[in-house]
Amino acid sequence: VIVSYSETLAWDSCPRQYHYQHDLKIIPVDLSDALSKGIKGHGLLQYFYQGLQDGLPVAEAKERVRIKAKQYLDVPGLNPEMADLLVVWGLVNQFIDTTDFSSYEVAIVENRYLFPLNRFTDDPLLSDVQIGFTPDVVLKRKGGFYTVEDAKFIGRAWSQKKLNRFPQAKLYELFLNDMGYNVTRSSIRFFNTKTNKITVHGESMTPQEGEILKRDFVKTVREIVIYKAGIHHEQTRRTMNYNNCQYCFFEQPCTAEAQGKDASKIIKHLFKRNDYDYSA
Ligand code: SF4
Repeated sequence: VIVSYSETLAWDSCPRQYHYQHDLKIIPVDLSDALSKGIKGHGLLQYFYQGLQDGLPVAEAKERVRIKAKQYLDVPGLNPEMADLLVVWGLVNQFIDTTDFSSYEVAIVENRYLFPLNRFTDDPLLSDVQIGFTPDVVLKRKGGFYTVEDAKFIGRAWSQKKLNRFPQAKLYELFLNDMGYNVTRSSIRFFNTKTNKITVHGESMTPQEGEILKRDFVKTVREIVIYKAGIHHEQTRRTMNYNNCQYCFFEQPCTAEAQGKDASKIIKHLFKRNDYDYSA
């Protein structure tokens, strides 16, 4: 069984959301602004970091980003996503122009791993479970220390409360350390598409915090494994926390089905199959 971090995020937000996203594997035909910008922004950053990893000077790695952005733009006819691309391209260029890349080397770029969960638990139910995870970039600093970094393209700054409780980069730090990397820092780099500001939120983790995070994560994965093993998906429950519904892509089919209606037409016309494999 493979479970990805994004599955745990969806599951904890709302099991029904998990059902649409990971059982039916659907996404809206019109992706939201944030999602569309995020996908393009990550694509451009990936090209840049791969250039550095290949040993290119910063200017040449930046040129790779320009070529990739042009490929996105060169779609024939009117391209409604052009504005999104220009925003994120501007931000990525700003990041490149204002950052000193000489103090570290790029160790890993968008590499997908499968981490055996039995490294964290001896629960027999989880003995064959692997965690699929893809760190955006892992940087090797002087002294053999590593930083794992995640990029977020956001339209609204995160609150301190949200930042305090964001576990993704810390979990990746735990996985990578178990794999033999000496990761001592995790960070999130925010690219704000409304204000054009770039900020970094750095984090460090005590061993005790790491153990608590592992424990919480294992419990969430356990719930998903039990769900995958047998519950009828049509009966997947909705969250009672309606706050999670305001930004949910699946509000329309979810509400129709909650009223006992057939949502197949809504799903057919407003959603498409998501071919992205979260777990491989
Ligand atoms: S609308 Fe609310 S209850 Fe329905 S899937 Fe989304 S988060 Fe869950």
